[in-house]
Amino acid sequence: MNILVINSGSSSLKYKLFDMDKQKSLVSGVAERIGGTDSFIKHENGEKTVIDLELPNHKVALKEVLDLLTDPKLGVIKSLDEIDAVGHRILHGQEVFTESVILDKEKVETLKGFIEMGPLHMPANIGGIEACFSLMPNVPQIGAFDTAFHATIPAKAHLYALPYDLYESFKIRRYGFHGTSHKYVTNRAAEFLGKSQDDLKMITLHLGNGSSMAAVKNGKCIDTSMGFTPLEGLVMGTRCGDMDPAIVPYIGKKLDMTPDEVDTLMNKESGLKGFSGLSNDMRDIQQARSEGNKLAQLVYEMFVYRIVKYVGAYTAALGGLDCMVFTAGIGENDYEARRDICKELAFMGVFIDEELNDGLKGKETRLSTKESKVEVLLIPTNEELSIALDTYKLVK
Ligand code: AMP
Repeated sequence: MNILVINSGSSSLKYKLFDMDKQKSLVSGVAERIGGTDSFIKHENGEKTVIDLELPNHKVALKEVLDLLTDPKLGVIKSLDEIDAVGHRILHGQEVFTESVILDKEKVETLKGFIEMGPLHMPANIGGIEACFSLMPNVPQIGAFDTAFHATIPAKAHLYALPYDLYESFKIRRYGFHGTSHKYVTNRAAEFLGKSQDDLKMITLHLGNGSSMAAVKNGKCIDTSMGFTPLEGLVMGTRCGDMDPAIVPYIGKKLDMTPDEVDTLMNKESGLKGFSGLSNDMRDIQQARSEGNKLAQLVYEMFVYRIVKYVGAYTAALGGLDCMVFTAGIGENDYEARRDICKELAFMGVFIDEELNDGLKGKETRLSTKESKVEVLLIPTNEELSIALDTYKLVK
C-alpha cells in the first residue's frame, strides 16, 4: 500500500510517499515560496532535483507535485491510482478531533471553524486537503492532528485558572502541539526497550526550533509544555515560552504596541534569537558561546534550566520516571545540550555515557549507563511516518 503524506505550511507543501508494506519512503520533497516569487520544488528520489516554477497557490503546487510523482524520469509511480491514501498533518483538532480521522467535506467544514486557533497553519492545512479532494477525488484522505496525542491530558492539567466560562465559551485550554512527534517517539521508545507502554513513565523532549515536552504515563499523555498556542513552555528558537502574562499589557503600554504586535514579539522576536540578538539556530548559539558571547551563554543556560525544571515537574506529575527521550533538531544533534540537561538531573539518578553521547547525532541510541535509574534514549523523530502509520491503520 502506498501512502502520500502531505504537510502544508503557510507558504510551503512538504510531501513524502511511503510504501507501507516495506515501511520505506519512496520519494520526498518540498514546494517552497507558494504564493510568492521565486517559488520552486525540491524533489528527492535518491537524487536531489530543484525545479523553479510558478506556484501561485497550494492547489497548483500539489498538481505539480503529483505530476512529479508520476513523471517518467523523476517519479516513482506510473499513475496516481498507485496512491492508496493521503495523510494530512493538521495543526489543530480542537476538542472535536482527538485522534486521526478519515476526512470528508463535513469534517473539512468543521476544521474551518478552528482557523482562529491557528491562523497561519490552518488555512494552509485546509488548502492542502481541498486540493487533494479535487485532484484525487476517489482516494481516502486522513487527518492527523498535532494536538490529538495530548487529548488525554486531564482537566486539572489542561485547564487554566481563568473564569470557567472562558473555557466554555471560547474553548480556552491547553491543547499542546508536536503530538505526532511525541506519539512516534513514545511508541519507538517502548519498542526499543522491549517494554509495554503500560509499564512506562516517560518524558519526551522534542527540542527543535519549536520545542515542547510531554509527560506520558502508560502510553497516555498527562501533560505537555505547549498550551493554548505553541508559545507556552520552553525557551525556543524565536518564542519566549513561559513568562508572567502581565508583561503583555505592560510592554504594550511602554512601547505603544497593539496586542497583536506584542504577540509577534513573543513568537518571532524572542527566545534564542531575541535574547541573544544573534540567531534562532542553536548551532550559532553554541558557536557564539564558545567564543565568549555572554548573552549566548546566558540564553543557553536559560534553555537548559527551563527543560530541567520541567523534567522535575513532570517527574512529580508522573509519580516517578522510567525513561527520557531526546528528539528533534537539537535533541537529536546537540550532544552538549543533552549532556548539560542530564548533568543537572544526576540527583534523580540520571546518568548517561558521556563518551557515547559526545558527538552523537541523529542515531537511535540508549545513552543511559547501567547505573542510571532512568533510561535515556535518543530517538530521531519521524512525523511523516507517524502520520503514514495512522493513515494505514484507518484505511486498511
Ligand atoms: P527542527 O525544528 O527539529 O528541524 O530543529 C531545528 C533546530 O535544530 C535548528 O534550529 C538548530 O537550532 C538545531 N540543530 C540542528 N542541528 C544541530 C546541531 N548539530 N547542533 C545543535 N543544534 C542543531
